[in-house]
This record gives sequence, structure tokens and C-alpha cells, in this order.
Amino acid sequence: MKQTEWTVTLVHLLSLALRFEGEGQYNLAKIARAKADSLSRRAAWELNLPSDKETLAHDIERVAASLDDADLQTAFRAGASARASGRLPLIQEIPHPYVCRTCGHLTLGEAPEKCPDCGAWGGTFLWFPPVYWLEALDPTEALERLRQTPLEVAALIEGLSEEALTRQPADGGWAIRNIVSHLRDAQGVIAFRVDLFLKEENPVLESKAVFAWARDENARPPSVREIFDAYQTSRQQMIAKLESIPFTDWWRTGRHEEFGVVSIKQQVSYFAAHELTHLPQIARLVK
Ligand SMILES: [Zn+2]
Repeated sequence: MKQTEWTVTLVHLLSLALRFEGEGQYNLAKIARAKADSLSRRAAWELNLPSDKETLAHDIERVAASLDDADLQTAFRAGASARASGRLPLIQEIPHPYVCRTCGHLTLGEAPEKCPDCGAWGGTFLWFPPVYWLEALDPTEALERLRQTPLEVAALIEGLSEEALTRQPADGGWAIRNIVSHLRDAQGVIAFRVDLFLKEENPVLESKAVFAWARDENARPPSVREIFDAYQTSRQQMIAKLESIPFTDWWRTGRHEEFGVVSIKQQVSYFAAHELTHLPQIARLVK
């Protein structure tokens, strides 16, 4: 589809969805919104921007300069500056965005009581979480996932020699060893946080660059099997703990340096959903 034709279709679909919602025709509205989302994701995917840091830094500044919203502009630039110095921006630097579902008014921090543009109630605003993993799984689903994933990892690597598990792929990416280490490291972080949530009222959760540890061999036990065992043992202990707490404790909150206020429920969902993205990565390496 050509650029203009595509934009017209997209806007038309969303506008139609608004009308359908006004009529209470929610099933019609949902497919209009889904198609609009699909169109924009497909177009973004096909645009296939270069991934080098410099070009993207340039792009962030171009976007920031084009904005007529000072708060958003400041947030983009704060993010760019954090990124340039190799760290993740904190929640104070880039607060949560909320968008008015009716008119599109965007605000950072928290939703206003009433939309300044169209008068819609703040409670109707759409919150954009930093990553959908926070909201992906409810407690029952998350527990099931946390139980299943180690079994799936075990099945994937079963029978492979230590040499095969440690062999680095030709593209220079992670070996299976690095992925299993990464899962163990992430498990360590979530287990530590669950304890902290239960021990303290509204604890501070430090932002961790878990990704960067996977190639750090200083503190590594010698075999991948041992790394896996440490992962699985910590997992089982954590599941037992989560099963024993009152259900309402899943909504206990902490203050995450990067994501702001998060609950046990959101943190557990995050880690359980995150692990799923590494299963196809292991499967590819096994082949
Ligand atoms: Zn509005």
C-alpha cells in the first residue's frame, strides 16, 4: 500500500471503531482496532530501520524536535541521554504515558481527572506499560508458566553434550550456556524481589541489567547442568513461597527504579513471560 493510502485507511479504521463503540457494537469495533494495529505494525516492520546506535540516536532527536509537547520532548531527550551513556532511563525521567481513548490527548505521569481536550474521564485513559510482560499473565497462569518453562528447557537440552551446550553460534551470539545462565540470573533477581516484597512494605526494586551478566564467566559453576539445576532449585523454592502467600499479597507493591510502582503480580508475570522469548532461541541453537 502507498504511504497516503495507508494512513487514510488507518485513520478511517480507528474512526470507524469510535463510531462502533458509540453504538455499543464492540465486536465490530474490536476488528477495526485490530486491523489498524496490524496495519501499523506491519508497516513499521517493513520499514526495517537500521539498528546502529548512531542512526537511532539521530532519529530520537528528530522525533523530539518535531514534537509540540514540551514534557514529551524532555522525556525523549532524557531517554536519549541515558541511552548514550549506556544506562536505562529511570521512571522519573520518562514517566508513564496515558492517552485519551476518545481524542488522543497524551499525558505523562498520571491521567488527569478530566481530559483537557474532550472532557473524557481520566479513568478511561489508556496506560502504556513499558513492556506488556507486566500485564501478560494473571497469578494462576504465571505460576503454571513458572513451573512449565524449566521443564521445557530441560526437554530441549536433554542429551546434549557439555561441548554442544557451550558451542558459540557462528553469528557470535549466545551459546545455550549463556541462555541458561541468563535464565538462572533472572530467576535470582525475581526470587530476591519476591522475598523483598514480602519482607518490606513498598520496597525499592533496583533496576538490573540482567542481560549483561550472561557472558560473565567469573562466578560460573563449571557445567551447564549445574547452572540449570541452580535455576530449577531456586524456581521450585520460589513457587512454593508464592503458593503459600495470601492471594491479596500478589497486589503488594514496590517502587521499581525503571518501571515505577509494580506489584508482585506484575513482576512475576514479567519474569514468566520474559522466559518464553528464550525458548525459541534455545530451539534454534539445538538445531
Ligand atoms: Zn480526550
